[in-house]
Amino acid sequence: MPTLKLLLLPGDGIGPEVMAEAKHVLAWLEARGLASFAIEEDLVGGSAYDAHGKSISEAAMAKALAADAVLFGAVGGPKWDKVPYDARPEAGLLRLRKDLGLFANLRPAICYPALADASSLKRELVEGLDIMIVRELTGGVYFGEPKTITDLGNGQKRAVDTQVYDTYEIERIARVAFDLARKRRNKVTSSEKRNVMKSGVLWHEVVTQVHAREYKDVQLEHLLADACGMQLVRQPKQFDVIVTDNLFGDMLSDVAAMLTGSLGMLPSASLGEVDAKTKKRRALYEPVHGAAPDIAGKGLANPIAMIGSLGMALRYSFGMIKEADLIDRAIAAALDRGLRTADIRGQAQRTIGTTEMGEAIRAELDRLAV
Ligand code: NAD
Repeated sequence: MPTLKLLLLPGDGIGPEVMAEAKHVLAWLEARGLASFAIEEDLVGGSAYDAHGKSISEAAMAKALAADAVLFGAVGGPKWDKVPYDARPEAGLLRLRKDLGLFANLRPAICYPALADASSLKRELVEGLDIMIVRELTGGVYFGEPKTITDLGNGQKRAVDTQVYDTYEIERIARVAFDLARKRRNKVTSSEKRNVMKSGVLWHEVVTQVHAREYKDVQLEHLLADACGMQLVRQPKQFDVIVTDNLFGDMLSDVAAMLTGSLGMLPSASLGEVDAKTKKRRALYEPVHGAAPDIAGKGLANPIAMIGSLGMALRYSFGMIKEADLIDRAIAAALDRGLRTADIRGQAQRTIGTTEMGEAIRAELDRLAV
């Protein structure tokens, strides 16, 4: 059995609390003989700033570059609101994304049947929902130059952001989406604004070409980003994989997230290029939520997004599909038993804390693994 190199970066606030539950699941997998991990751990965010004066040390970066996958908790909190801009907690995460070349952000939106009533949409629209938003993460309008505010000297200013995409950036994100679709329900929806944006025209053209050349077996549809937003709240179950640029992906993935209930439920993955020699790709897995300083240290945080992120690491970095499915089923089973952390509590349900939810999920793993 290969040893999988994993770097854990718990971070700040509730990060270490939810990471503790992911560590228990790692220990469970090892104890069952299902995997062998070489685990390292380091600081990131405010805790790294306190120790080293920067939000991630060079030593931690080196470990991240050497790892098969990075599991990240959350960073930030009021304690570090006044630190220099370059050393702010989020800078550690941005450095990781940049240096690991993580261009593809995968955000699943899954609605567990037990939580369908927590959605803002009707139960029948979201129950059993399982879609994947693939967002381009390193290009587009957030990074394009020029990016300026100019004083026009007549009492007016002019702000400019630039949306830029090259062919290779669209090709590689399209391939991630098509590859994922082949392992799911075999459908990709590509979303842009080709009616008003040149970058949308190129996006449409390149995705169409990649499809015709390499993925004819996958169903492809194109949907303008505004229509996609509308369809996401109208009939979300029509989608399987949605692939889109950085800006539209930012918005559409948040819309999709809210279909499913709480921030505490949402895992994510960010993937880099496949290395031609090793055939491996750099990857970072993290919950979508932040450090939640309002509940940090109280044992209240929902660990499901963190444990789900570990599940994604097993699925996308280690090819451990059976084990990843097992984790997803254990989470669903714990929820089916009516167990809820405060963020997903409905009426008349007993509320449990972080460790109890972790224990409940491991109990379900024990039950399901036999
Ligand atoms: P947040 O996600 O930390 O919290 C938003 C709300 O959701 C809070 O009420 C919080 O208690 C709740 N919540 C979040 N995760 C939860 C969980 N697992 N279980 C139960 N409840 C949960 O967002 P925020 O309050 O806007 O930001 C707090 C800090 O986190 C800030 O410093 C922000 O910059 C940082 N942040 C970091 C990341 C990251 O590390 N990737 C992402 C977002 C925000």
